[in-house]
Amino acid sequence: MTSDSDIGSFRKTAYANDRNFEFSQLIDTVPSHLWRLNSDGDPIFFNRTMINYLGKDALDFHTPGVLPLDAMIEMAVHPDDAAKFKATLGHSLATGDSFYIRYRLKRADGVFMWMSSRAEPLRNGGGRIIEWFGVCHDVNDQVATEEALRRSDWHLQRLMDALPVNICSWTAKGELSYVSKRFVELTGMKKTNFLEFAKAALDLIHPDDVEAVRRKAVRCIETDTPFSMRYRRRGQDGIFRWTDDRFEPLRQADGTVVEWYGLSIDVDDEMRTQQSLRQSEHSLHQLVETLPALIYCLAPDGRPIYRSQKLSEYLGFRIDEDPETGKSLHATLQAIIHPDDLAAVEHKYSQSLPTGAPYAMRHRMRRFDGEYRWMETRALAMYDGGGNIIQWNGVCLDIDDWLRAQEELRLAQRNLAKASQAASLAELTASIAHEIGQPLAAMIASSDACQQWLQAIPPNLERAQTALDRVVRSANNAADVVKRIRALFKHTDDAREIQRYDAVVMEARDLMADEALRRGVSMNSQIEADLPVVFVDAIQIQQVFVNLIRNALEAVEAVADHRLVSLRIRRDNHFVETEVADNGPGVEDPDRIFEPFYTTKRQGMGMGLSICRSIVEAHGGKLWAEKNQGRGATFVFTLPIEGQTLDP
Ligand code: ADP
Repeated sequence: MTSDSDIGSFRKTAYANDRNFEFSQLIDTVPSHLWRLNSDGDPIFFNRTMINYLGKDALDFHTPGVLPLDAMIEMAVHPDDAAKFKATLGHSLATGDSFYIRYRLKRADGVFMWMSSRAEPLRNGGGRIIEWFGVCHDVNDQVATEEALRRSDWHLQRLMDALPVNICSWTAKGELSYVSKRFVELTGMKKTNFLEFAKAALDLIHPDDVEAVRRKAVRCIETDTPFSMRYRRRGQDGIFRWTDDRFEPLRQADGTVVEWYGLSIDVDDEMRTQQSLRQSEHSLHQLVETLPALIYCLAPDGRPIYRSQKLSEYLGFRIDEDPETGKSLHATLQAIIHPDDLAAVEHKYSQSLPTGAPYAMRHRMRRFDGEYRWMETRALAMYDGGGNIIQWNGVCLDIDDWLRAQEELRLAQRNLAKASQAASLAELTASIAHEIGQPLAAMIASSDACQQWLQAIPPNLERAQTALDRVVRSANNAADVVKRIRALFKHTDDAREIQRYDAVVMEARDLMADEALRRGVSMNSQIEADLPVVFVDAIQIQQVFVNLIRNALEAVEAVADHRLVSLRIRRDNHFVETEVADNGPGVEDPDRIFEPFYTTKRQGMGMGLSICRSIVEAHGGKLWAEKNQGRGATFVFTLPIEGQTLDP
């Protein structure tokens, strides 16, 4: 424990040679610590300010008037600074160099305060160090400020290093004053001067951009104006990325530039996103413009907000060119929809817009040249995530030409129907002429015969009577034909009856037997026994049979000898099948011969086979022609057996 009397003794010794009390007062009251050390470095004097600071307990004496240095350091110097303090002082004591140190010194209340301490040696006439005079003052606030500055600088540095940007600054004289860590890494340069740095930075710029960047940067620096530009810069991986560079000058009050600050941000992702957005917008635009339709968009209230280029060209004006039509749907519709269709179109929109129901209309719309043309318009509502309509997207298709084509087609179809009616009429007329013609020819022949038998001397009344019978029979046949035709028109099948088929066929064959004989044609027939019954119009079926036999007789005319027509009738499952075969020249085209008006005969009508096929098919059967193995042709027709249900 150091007592007041100890201090008094220490000070008394120190002041023993004092000549001036005032001087000692001054020493004690200066707001700095003043001290003296002997040549060994042990303190031999502290002024009052220092003693007050350290406190009495800090003074411990082994030798009166001398403070042991090590004890002092241990007691009063901060443990972290003690080693440095000792070393610095030791160096000064050994070399005589000035002593200077900043360290923490414990105050009487135990708090360490930063001190700045300096000491110079006092030498005797021989140059030997006798003592050291030292001064020490409180720099705690300064150190705290410096520390705060250092910390803030550190934070700023950390911030700049952490920010994903490149920062640099240079003076107006072109000295590089700061380059952020990232920038240094990017350029691969050590701290260097501005010109070298600028050159390194220019080397990284994409060859296509470098000239423009260089020119602009030079102009900005020459004119002291801010620089801002986007260009591609090569990274350390050798890949070019888009960067946004900005340089701005910092000016003094008088406007003189003192410093330039540069900021460089990587905007590659943004540029690529923008680019792909632009591309997708472009292709969407292209899509809309190349679609073979006129496209428009409406706001939820129906106000036009978009029109494709094609639609604008079609109408002859753009939305922004006509302030009236751009304002409301009503004004737009009034301007472009045909007056007769306007009410219906407006009504349809008034139903769709509030409800979101799809809009679809056909109406006339005015084209740029004033012509009203038929359009097909459809629009659908587009919704946001909350189910609210955000806009309507619509298409208009010019269907005017299509509608006209449809109308023309309809007219053409009507004309065709008329023509085919006329053709049917002609066919029917020919058919009637054909069917009536046969009995009429027979009547004329029989009448001639009758006349001849009557004019004979003596008249052969018996033969005349026979001929007259034939006339009557033929006349009845003609009457039957007419009856059948009338039945046909009435769409009736009243004339059909269940018949024995062999009876129907034999009657017709007998009719033709005479003619075959006259033409020198042998006619043989094979008729199966116990043929089933059929439900037919006997007259019509006989017409078919007679027609086929007559064709066969005409075909074999070309045959020099052994003209033959064979008939065969047999049952085939649910049908009776009738064959008329000849040894004539045969048929060239078995399908065409059934077409109406197809004939190879000079006097032919080309209607017989067509009518025969109609009759057979009307009875549920089929008629076709086949080429014979050897000579000639075979015509076959089938008829369903009564009681069978048949395909149409
Ligand atoms: P047309 O009375 O003019 O002969 P059809 O319709 O009865 O009319 O016959 C059409 C054509 O079919 C004939 O002109 C002839 O060329 C051909 N044809 C019909 N039957 C025979 C047959 N048995 N042999 C060869 N050709 C035939």
